[in-house]
Amino acid sequence: MSRQLKFNIFRYNPQDPNSVPHTDSFWLDETPSLTLFIALNRLREEQDSSLNFDFACRMAICGSCGMVINGRPGLACRTLTSDLPGEITLMPLPVFKLVGDLAVDTGTWFRATNEKIESWIHTDQEFDPEALEERMENDLANSIFELERCIECGCCVASCGTANMRADFVGAFALNRVARFVMDPRDKRSDADYFEVVGTDQGIFGCMGLLACEDVCPRKIPLQDQLGILRRKMGFIGLKNLFRRKV
Ligand code: SF4
Ligand code: SF4
Repeated sequence: MSRQLKFNIFRYNPQDPNSVPHTDSFWLDETPSLTLFIALNRLREEQDSSLNFDFACRMAICGSCGMVINGRPGLACRTLTSDLPGEITLMPLPVFKLVGDLAVDTGTWFRATNEKIESWIHTDQEFDPEALEERMENDLANSIFELERCIECGCCVASCGTANMRADFVGAFALNRVARFVMDPRDKRSDADYFEVVGTDQGIFGCMGLLACEDVCPRKIPLQDQLGILRRKMGFIGLKNLFRRKV
């Protein structure tokens, strides 16, 4: 027999001065292979057309449908209701600006953070559209691609204790992004340049290392490894700087 699911959904419209944050409850019959994404669409179509949430691709590529699902950040499109209890509580991702109900503005946060960490290849080489692409060893290209798979969903940031307490912390997303450029031989930044970007309390030294970020990442990006490598590298550069100043 199929279950009847109860949804407790956060509701609030920050644009409306009369809106008060609260939770609305909805009931829905569970169907086979029901995802939260489909359930939310059904609720919006059948029960409340004002329900606000984000989505685009439905296949964990766009990163739009991140939300807190029974206390844990995740993607609505990847979450089957059969993996959840009969009562499901949905909240918007913290840290990001609330647009309304379950929809948050991750774009502004990611753009600002990408600019802060200078998230692009730094090179003096002129771009030549006619030139053949530079060759890279397959193993290295695969290692870089592994980190490039981030979809900027915001789940790691929302789950992070430091990011929740401190708006200036760049989060696991950005640390992983910097680790990707450190690996890339086309990026000509020196160790000192990287230290400038993430060798601070806003960067790797603000990270508490509890790894909620890795637990919730829907792309299974190896954040633990990358944070560890970056912490060691930045720690080493920091020590070198210290000794250099003393002599
Ligand atoms: S390990 Fe670091 S980046 Fe990841 S959740 Fe904890 S404090 Fe945040
Ligand atoms: S690292 Fe993972 S959880 Fe964080 S933004 Fe990228 S895909 Fe989302």
